[in-house]
Formats: sequence, structure tokens, C-alpha cells
Amino acid sequence: MRVVDVLPVLRTSRYDLPLTYDAAELTLEVGDVVSVPLGSREVLGYVVSPVRAAAEADGTRLKPVRERLDAPRAFDETGLALARFVADRYLCTLGEALGAAILGGTVPRIRDSLVRAETEVPARYPSVPLRLLELIWEEFEESFTLEQLLRHPDARRAGDRRSLLGHVQALVRGGSLRRVRRLLSPRTREAEVRVLRPGSSSVRGRKAAALAAFVAEHPGVTRADATLAGFSSSVIARAVRAGAVVEASERVARKRELQPRGEVPPPTPEQREALAEIEAALRRRRFETMLLFGVTGSGKTYVYIEAIRGVIAEGGRALVLVPEISLTPQAAQRFRAAFGERVAVLHSALSERERFEAWNACARGEIDVVVGARSAVFAPLRDVRLTVVDESHDPSYKQDAAPRYHAAAVAAARMRLEGGVLLLGSATPSLESYAAAKEGKIALLELRRRATAQPLPEVRVLDLRAEFDGGNRAILSDALVAALGERLSRGEKSILFLNRRGFAGSLICRACGTAPHCPRCTIALTVHRREKVLRCHYCDFQTAIVDRCAACGERSVVELGAGTERVVEEVTRLFPEARVLQMDSDTTTRLGDHARILADFEADGDVLVGTQMVAKGLDYPTVTLAAVVAADVGLNLPDFRAAERSFALIAQLCGRSGRGRAGEAIVQTYAPDHPAIAFAAKHDYEGFARQELRERAELGFPPAMRLVYVGVIGRVQTDVVRAAQRYAALLRESEAAEVLGPAPYPVARVNDEWRYRIALKTHAPKRVRAFIREHIVPLAHADGKVRLALNVDP
Ligand code: ADP
Ligand code: ZN
Repeated sequence: MRVVDVLPVLRTSRYDLPLTYDAAELTLEVGDVVSVPLGSREVLGYVVSPVRAAAEADGTRLKPVRERLDAPRAFDETGLALARFVADRYLCTLGEALGAAILGGTVPRIRDSLVRAETEVPARYPSVPLRLLELIWEEFEESFTLEQLLRHPDARRAGDRRSLLGHVQALVRGGSLRRVRRLLSPRTREAEVRVLRPGSSSVRGRKAAALAAFVAEHPGVTRADATLAGFSSSVIARAVRAGAVVEASERVARKRELQPRGEVPPPTPEQREALAEIEAALRRRRFETMLLFGVTGSGKTYVYIEAIRGVIAEGGRALVLVPEISLTPQAAQRFRAAFGERVAVLHSALSERERFEAWNACARGEIDVVVGARSAVFAPLRDVRLTVVDESHDPSYKQDAAPRYHAAAVAAARMRLEGGVLLLGSATPSLESYAAAKEGKIALLELRRRATAQPLPEVRVLDLRAEFDGGNRAILSDALVAALGERLSRGEKSILFLNRRGFAGSLICRACGTAPHCPRCTIALTVHRREKVLRCHYCDFQTAIVDRCAACGERSVVELGAGTERVVEEVTRLFPEARVLQMDSDTTTRLGDHARILADFEADGDVLVGTQMVAKGLDYPTVTLAAVVAADVGLNLPDFRAAERSFALIAQLCGRSGRGRAGEAIVQTYAPDHPAIAFAAKHDYEGFARQELRERAELGFPPAMRLVYVGVIGRVQTDVVRAAQRYAALLRESEAAEVLGPAPYPVARVNDEWRYRIALKTHAPKRVRAFIREHIVPLAHADGKVRLALNVDP
């Protein structure tokens, strides 16, 4: 007989065992969605093995697969292998890992609907309100969902949710309504996208006119790209109504020819050398990792594009991972320009359907290059011979909810599987990748010079302690104010970076020292003066700003520390004529906000103030000043990567300056001698890395040892501490790792839950993972009061 393994798709993540079913006569492939019997129910599941022959005797009791759904495969063999890798490496279930590897829209959904079994309003239900019966029999379609009924305002007037459910149940029991289970499976149509073309009329309004100009410049631009470029749906709708822009659905005709190469400048000598090494590795057709360590502006993107051109010419495909496309629309645009229809850019402005269609275009072999964020590493492309991880040090490559995978680690697993090259690019490589390169485990390619004429900017470190002694308590030092003034008088642009949003850090009472805290989290509330609230940056709790201390009643509450909002206010006060823009997660809540702020900055902005978003990837020739307002905010975070992250942010930020003409950078700090600052000021990555790696080795942090955090979370503190202590004791007995803690997380309570953490340092990561899987996970599952948050290689 023929049997097959199926993983039921269930809500509970604990259920993780593929079950073997009788495949009967069905033709099934890995990734197919099927319906199977499970206990007394019928559930959906994914095929996770090829169909295989089994002896009749073993199989007699197997239940049969009921049917194969008419939907595209949810994943292919590569996707399944990568999900298995993620489940094993990051200690999650296969179901959770597949959840990351599968696109939302590919999962079929079951919809329960209700169907009228009688034509007339039934009269035999004295307890059911007449208005509800009339609603169902006179206003609803013959088939409707329970949700539609519960949402209907007339139904709600007939009773609350519970009594409505009771009435429906009575009608089902009495045979007047029937429950019908229907399956909604996604179907691919021909790949279609909504595109915008120039119309014949004009439109009033600055934004709509700007959209019309944008569309005239890029006829046929997709609606999603226009959104990403900063035009909101309402602006698009207005321009379409006015006839200034025409919207249409178009089939995507994907041409298989390479784009003409166009006007590409010749590579610099360093670029040529790096390309030659990458091409040699590609020819070997086996797994290899290479680190492209190139200073900011050295032309790494140029190297990626030319390497990919070679891959495609040889019939292969390529994957490009970028940290967050909305932050770097320029980069995505360059891949589009180079590869035309053969590139799929997966970004957050795509609708679920568009994303689904792009995914299926990959599966059908119509796409040769995928550019996307973290999850694009799972894209169903075949024959990927090169995977690029751009800005590979960026923290966004690590997912911060289960499965807590790192996209570069998954990319490595994928290239190992496909025999391809993994190219990590960065101006500030992660210390793990740099150490591996220095030890000769991966190849090191270097671009030491900028591709354009300008050298890296001069960096001045300003000691705020000295400013303080001189009586200056302002957040902007005299030197920084003078530098800003110079830029303004010359019509040049400046970028100010501060790793804290809001107006001030927090409030504090000068009389008793109390700071208002979040009632749900152990963290001080942040002042947002523009919105006039105190807000928790962990759970979004907010409350009114107070001027009287809640603890002692004195009117002695003052603000402590500064945020981006305050910097904007200060710059505006000093330079009222300057156009100042703010970019942080408070000002970029909608799609396209990033692009709009950046476009304004490019057009006529003078000063851009923001959080780490402004340190990433911006390439504007007239920026000649980049400044860190308070480097200490990031340095003092309780994280072993705090120095590495600070170094990277400062170096990346300085790299924004002086691209088109000579520029400078300024770093304000209370700790001018801190290695992260001192080395960044000298553009000395190697010096920093050497010193930091030595310290990590002494303290046993990565890359010297591997780290696993076992988080224990629950509502009652004593339960959490008790469970965490028990797990720590077991882990100590295992002798697989050095065990630290349990200790509270840096923020011990978030959203009314207590969080304690055990840190494991080890040279035997496999043993540690196996021990956790076999001994800790089952204990936590049996304990109803706590749950685990496992973070491998944090
Ligand atoms: P990185 O990604 O390393 O920061 P980019 O790829 O953004 O650098 O390149 C920085 C600038 O240098 C860009 O404006 C790019 O167009 C330009 N550039 C890159 N390579 C070359 C080259 N070979 N010749 C001329 N200009 C180049
Ligand atoms: Zn909170």
C-alpha cells in the first residue's frame, strides 16, 4: 500500500507529530494541503513526506487521506527542509517553523456557514425574538456566516453575543438552520497586478499632483510601489477620480530575456577583485560563505548586482535579503532597474493577494531574483546559486518572536542544501562573521575605499562632561549648534540621530526621586509632549502628563533625558527658518511614511532628526553633517551586544555624511573613551573588533561560546521564579552548559507578565538543545502557570 506523512494544522503549537496516513490512489507531493481524519474530526494538514510504499500489515489500521485540496503547494522540498532546520536549531515545533516558511495567504481556511433549511419564518421558537427570525429569513442570503450575523446591528439589538449564540443553537437543533462547513482555498489566477498609468486630466492638490507627476515619470508603476513611495490610498483614489491617473489590472508578462545592461560604470579595482572571487566561488558550485566587508559607500550593491547578473546568465537564480525595504527603497529600486520583470520585490506594501501571486510566480519558475526582508529566505525559488544578505549585521534579521530564527543562519542552511554561495555584506560585520573570516572559515572580501571621490568624513567626539562643566546643559553642544548653522548657511543637509523617541526619557520627582512607571511593566513611562501623554514603550499603555508627584504630592516633577521630539523642538527654536523633519516609529506608523519623509528631506529639508532608521542606507549627496546627539543611550543597554550595536550605529550614521562633497560627523557623549565611540571616530572597525572579541572571549560570550536564553514567563511572580529555579537546577545537572541565573529580564514585567531568564553558555550547542527539548520543554508544557520563551543564538 502507499502511505504518506501529514502534519495536521492545529492551533495548539504543542501538537507537533506528523501522522502517517493511507495515501490510497491520490497523487501527493510535499507541501500539498490535504484533509485528513483526526480522532472524530476532519482537519487540514500539510503533506510532509513523499508517498512511499509500506507493507500491507503495517498499514491496515491507517486512516486514508480524504482529499487533496485544489490549492497550490504551501511549500516545496526546500521549504520543508529549511523549516526542519529552523525547528531543530531554534527549538520550536515544525508547525511553528512552517508558519514562518509559508506565506499567510497559502493556508486554506475552513469557513462554517449557516444555511436556511426552511423557506418561511418558522413560528415554533417562542424564545427566539421575532426581529432576529425576520432578519435571518428576510434580509440574509440563504447561506451566511455566524460572524456576519453577530456583526449585524439589528441582530445586536436582539440580544448580546451569548444569547444570540443560544438562539442560533436552538434554530439548528430545531432543524430550521443547517451548519455547513466549507473550505476556502486560495487559487492562483494568472499573475495580475494593479498598475497606474498617466490620465488625461489634471488634478488639484499638492499630493495628488505629485502622484500624477510620479506616474508620468514611471508609467505602469504598480499601486504597491506607489504606496511604498509615500502616496496614500486616499491620494491615489483622488487622482484616479479626477482622471489624472488611470488604474488598471494587468497580467504580468514576464520576459525571460536579460535586461540590457544600460549605462553601468566600470567597477573600481577593489570591486573587480571582489567580483572575480565571487564568480570563482560560484563556478565551484558548492556551499561557501563570503564576507564582503566594505566601508559605507564603497559600492557593495554594485557588486551584488553584477554577481547576480553572472548567476542569471548561467541559468541560476539569486536571493537578496535586505533589512527592511521601506527604509531602503533606493536599494530595491536599483535591483528593479537591473533585472526588470525577473525580479520580485517582496515588501510590506503588497496586498496579501499580490504577495501570494509573487510567491507563486517564484514557484512557477517565472522569477530569477527575489529581493525581500527576513522571511524571503524561504521563497520557493529553485536553483538558488547565490544568496546575498545585505547589511548582514542588522538586528532585524533575527525574528523576535517564535520561531526566533536568524535569516543569515537559514540562508546558510539553504546554500548548503543547494550548493550555492552565501554573500554577507556589511560595513560593520557582526563579530561572529568577522571572527569566522579572520579564522579562515569563510572568505573575506574587502572594499576599503568609497566608490565615489569623497573619503569617509572626519569625526569629532564632543565630551559632554566638559560642556557640562562649562555650564551648558542644553542637549545640543555649542560646537554642534555651530556646525548646524554652517550647514544651513551653505544650503547643505544634516542628519541628527538619537536612539530614543518621544520628548524626554522620563519624568522624575526632584523631591522624592520617584519616576512614574507603567502599571503593567517595570519600566518608566516616556514623555510624549506633542500628544500630551506619558507612554510605555513596551506595552503602549498611556496616561496624562502630571506635574505633581503621585508619591509625595510635591509639584517638583521634572523631565529627564531627551528624545527625538525634543531635539526637533530645540533645532526649530535655534533655527526657526530651517525645515526640520522627524523620522522614528512615532512618525512612520503608515506605509509610505518613510518614503514621504525622505522625499521631503531630499527636496527641501535641512535637518533630519530620528532614531536608528536614519542611520541605515540613506545615500544623499548634499548631507555633509551627521551627528549622534547622545551616544550613551545605546551604550548602556543591558545586552552583551550593546557596544557592537553602538559601534555599528555610529559608524553607519557617520557613513551618511560627505558622500557628494566633503562632510563631517559629530558624536556627543559622556564616555568619549568607550571603545565603541573611540574606534568609530577613527573609522577603525578592526581595532574595535579585536578589542571586543578579546573581551567576549574572556567573558565567554559569542562568538567564543554559544548562548541560549531560556525565558520563563507567567502572571504570578512566585510561580515564574520557582519554575525558573527548577529548570536552572536541571540544566546545571546536565553539565552541558555554564548556567547563569535565573535573573529577571532587563525589564522584568511586561504587560502584567513576569519574565525571568536563564542564560546558558556552551561549547556543545547540540547537547544543550537536545537537553532542553527532552527535559525542559515537557516540564513547562505540564506546568499550566508558565510558558517558555527559548532564544537560541540571541
Ligand atoms: P554601499 O552599498 O557600499 O554603501 P553603494 O552601492 O550604495 O555603496 O554605492 C555608493 C555610491 O557609489 C552610489 O551612489 C553608487 O552609485 C556609487 N558607485 C558604486 N560603484 C560605483 C562604480 N564602480 N563607479 C561609480 N560609482 C559607483
Ligand atoms: Zn507597559
